[in-house]
Amino acid sequence: MQSIKYAAPTSVEDAVAVLAEYNDKARVLAGGTDLIVQVREWGRDVDVFVDAKDIPELMTLEMDSSKGLTLGAAVPCHQIYNNDAVNKAYPGLIDAVSMIGGTAIQGRASVGGNLCNSGPAGDSIPPLIIYSAVCNVAGPNGTRQIKVEDFCTGPGRNCLEDNEILVSLSLPAPAKSSGAHYLRFIPRNEMDIAVVDAGANITLDGDSVSEARIALGAVAPTPLYLEDAGDAIIGKPATEDTFKEAASVCREAATPITDMRGTVEYRKHMSGIMAMRALRGALTRARGGDLNAH
Ligand SMILES: Cc1cc2nc3c(=O)[nH]c(=O)nc-3n(C[C@H](O)[C@H](O)[C@H](O)COP(=O)(O)OP(=O)(O)OC[C@H]3O[C@@H](n4cnc5c(N)ncnc54)[C@H](O)[C@@H]3O)c2cc1C
Repeated sequence: MQSIKYAAPTSVEDAVAVLAEYNDKARVLAGGTDLIVQVREWGRDVDVFVDAKDIPELMTLEMDSSKGLTLGAAVPCHQIYNNDAVNKAYPGLIDAVSMIGGTAIQGRASVGGNLCNSGPAGDSIPPLIIYSAVCNVAGPNGTRQIKVEDFCTGPGRNCLEDNEILVSLSLPAPAKSSGAHYLRFIPRNEMDIAVVDAGANITLDGDSVSEARIALGAVAPTPLYLEDAGDAIIGKPATEDTFKEAASVCREAATPITDMRGTVEYRKHMSGIMAMRALRGALTRARGGDLNAH
């Protein structure tokens, strides 16, 4: 049995000071749905939990019609999908936060924790990438911003430096005539890790695609931003044939591994399929449609 201290700072500065005092033996605790499992089951070496939930900047959920969304790193999923304005503006993020774990997990789990855990299949990461989200980070040397697509550096690794904390995520206001969708393919219809997951965000100019961002998860050491796949369809009609071009770039760019959830060949094939599905969903939403309508 491991004895662990608990700190509940009420400011970012105090959190950074505790992190600096214990150095690599301190971990930020958001929902704890990854961290507590890692400490209890895997014996991860931690001396102190630094609870994020008393720090106002980490618990903020602020929508501004011109600036977009400021999402505190420790805001639990249920608060995100129960917010009407966020539901309306960022349905691709809602797709993800309403599928992480189940209701109990969503009561604690945060998007910041999902990102900082930096799993290749972390469900909230592709939606953050397609919405051009930026990480607001604070540390002993001040504050800095990092694009989400640059944040993860390997399985379970990211570019946070010693004693830095993710404070919040900034998501720009969605463009007019844009729509986004995120979905995953899992081996069974219960809680599991994705075989492949995909997100797409497109903006229409009439019937043509004027902007496109596509991301895949579970097919590389980190979630992938597929800039070339998006660029391949800009200026083209929003049709199945056009989307197939993006899907083909996705298939080629995927560098998955074989594991119990699928082989390399299967995952590459599914990368194209999931990119197509994400693009179709994004198109429906860009045209004002409802993906849940039957
Ligand atoms: C039963 C179960 C089902 C799950 N299902 C899914 C699923 O479907 N999809 C999925 O993606 N994940 C799933 N997970 C994993 C987990 O729930 C998510 O990754 C969750 O979003 C983590 O958020 P958290 O707030 O609990 O993070 P925590 O566990 O609190 O933290 C995770 C890691 O990030 C660090 N961290 C947290 N916040 C910060 C911060 N602000 N600054 C710096 N570092 C920070 C912590 O120190 C820790 O290393 C599941 C977990 C369980 C137990």
